[in-house]
Amino acid sequence: MSERDYYEVLGISRDASPDDIKKAYRKLARKYHPDVNPDDPTAEDKFKEVKQAYDVLSDPQKRAGYDQFGSSAFGEGGYQSGPRGFGDFAGFGDIFDMFFGGGFGSTSAGRARNQPRQGSDLRYDLRITLEEAVSGAGRDIELLRTETCPRCKGTGAEPGTHPTTCNVCGGTGQIKQVRQTALGQMVNVAPCNACGGTGQIITSPCSTCKGRGKVRRKRRIQVSVPPGVDTGSQIRISNEGEAGDRGGPPGDLYVYITVKPHRYFTRQGANILYEAPLTFTQAALGAEIEVPTLHGKAKLTIPQGTQPGARFRLRGKGVPHLRRGGRGDQHVRVTVQVPTRLTAKQRELLQELDETLQKEKTEERSFFEKMRDAFGAN
Ligand SMILES: [Zn+2]
Ligand SMILES: [Zn+2]
Repeated sequence: MSERDYYEVLGISRDASPDDIKKAYRKLARKYHPDVNPDDPTAEDKFKEVKQAYDVLSDPQKRAGYDQFGSSAFGEGGYQSGPRGFGDFAGFGDIFDMFFGGGFGSTSAGRARNQPRQGSDLRYDLRITLEEAVSGAGRDIELLRTETCPRCKGTGAEPGTHPTTCNVCGGTGQIKQVRQTALGQMVNVAPCNACGGTGQIITSPCSTCKGRGKVRRKRRIQVSVPPGVDTGSQIRISNEGEAGDRGGPPGDLYVYITVKPHRYFTRQGANILYEAPLTFTQAALGAEIEVPTLHGKAKLTIPQGTQPGARFRLRGKGVPHLRRGGRGDQHVRVTVQVPTRLTAKQRELLQELDETLQKEKTEERSFFEKMRDAFGAN
């Protein structure tokens, strides 16, 4: 049986780090998980393929074996994922499982149903202010999640009672049927109906969870938002996701950050853009102005003859870099305000100024005059 290359399956290079492998697996597993793709019959096979590749590559010993010998290191048909150790003897039915990837007519969920399984990851969307993104923040969030029932500790059975082993499937949670066909012997594996695939029958269900072993709970969780996060940043909080099944660990909680737009500041990566309005005399004469920043007020010297749109930089007044330390800059873009209302005195002064400017203009024709001439207007 030919197998696809495990590195190819996960879309990673041969020298991928354990972290890369885990990341690639998480991404693909989420994409192809049968629960997410109930209508896509190929998703399950892809999911199995990804899981198999991950099982091998995430284990340094198995990975080394695979690198050296390929999937033949794990016997014909590729490495069989499951609780059995590498090299253990596989029973008769399992050899068929190996060839047929878990058996016809069964689902991977059915197969894993009576084994411990990690809980699902949870997502929480958190909106923060730009100030919080810059300084970091501690936030309490409230979420509804599934937890292991505290009364029965997840067994589903009323305290003092015990679940009994299902006598239909003998506790395996699966029903196997061996059939003779033209192609030879085939094994059909399906979840046991009597116990719902769990292998156990609960005779006295827990009064709190009604036998499900889990309860929905509202929880307050403290999230520490590090300085420098941006919209799209994710904060992972281990083990704060949904409860696992049958003693499996809980999933993780992912907090997705959205930074709200700010009234005055625009963020561009680690830099902040701020527009500073100047009077036209400040722009012409130069000035010392005070500019707000996310780290308090800062002084900025405007040189004389500053044009509208000119940019100045306040070093280190931007957003902290998330990983490498240090901060971005604040850029100040100047706008020049033209007065709309003038007192008689101001008008007089400006007219006087205008006459001197006109005189200069005749000596040195301005760009605008040249434009006017070019378009033939007066
Ligand atoms: Zn319970
Ligand atoms: Zn059963």
